[in-house]
Amino acid sequence: MNGTRYARGEPEPFELFAIRYAHHGGRRASDNFIGGDIHEAASDLDYFVWVARRADKTFVMDTGFGPEAAQARARELFRLPAEALRLIGLEPERIDDIILTHLHYDHAGTLDSFPRARFHVQDAESAYATGRCMCHPFLRHPYDVENVVAFVRHLYCGRVIFHDYVTELADGLTLHRVGGHSAGLQVVRVWTRRGWVVIASDATHLYANLQRRLPFPAVYNVGDMMEGHEMLRHLADSEDHIVPGHDPLVMKIYPAPASDLAGMVVRLDKGPDLSRA
Ligand SMILES: [Zn+2]
Ligand SMILES: [Zn+2]
Repeated sequence: MNGTRYARGEPEPFELFAIRYAHHGGRRASDNFIGGDIHEAASDLDYFVWVARRADKTFVMDTGFGPEAAQARARELFRLPAEALRLIGLEPERIDDIILTHLHYDHAGTLDSFPRARFHVQDAESAYATGRCMCHPFLRHPYDVENVVAFVRHLYCGRVIFHDYVTELADGLTLHRVGGHSAGLQVVRVWTRRGWVVIASDATHLYANLQRRLPFPAVYNVGDMMEGHEMLRHLADSEDHIVPGHDPLVMKIYPAPASDLAGMVVRLDKGPDLSRA
């Protein structure tokens, strides 16, 4: 395919995209960091789905949320995640493989928009979202019961594929269970033309959580979350190869694939321009 540009034995690189579909503003530092000041203004959150694409395979990462969740949680929804995928020419009806980094409301809604997809999830996440931890309002708050019920329906239709810790889904794309934020959060390591990039999802919401070594307040196990930061550093070629789950800086520092997609889609397989941070 791309032939001689890559060393023999290296996988074919993926194109890697972040697509922004929603936003949440007006946050306080205490919303973003354990120990953060309740009076200090802090970073907004963006909401993304991610896509790894090459000639032989396309993987969508996460399915976002729809208008009901946006209204219930006062988030600004720009477009349905399935519609957002059309911005890069993907048809949601034809997606075969969707990696669910975890089952929180903003990562695993809208499953019915993908009629033929298989959903890849960690054993621990499925067990967590349907087990005794959900007796605790604090731990179940980031889940939406309707999403979880939809997930179970798809499971009973044979459309869920379970993973435990590390799986190579394709040559150049692996899943890694991190835990911490939820019991079964997984990150995705993707081979690109700039090296190994890691879609961290909520293993780090913002660059600042990683850089300041401060956990995000939505957490199942703080120790695992902090170890997860270390795993991100281990899996990625550098800190500039780690893509946080909700940081608005992602849209600023990475290039849009076309000028009319600026602010909506960026290429993560091209290096960030840190002077724009
Ligand atoms: Zn989450
Ligand atoms: Zn999230």
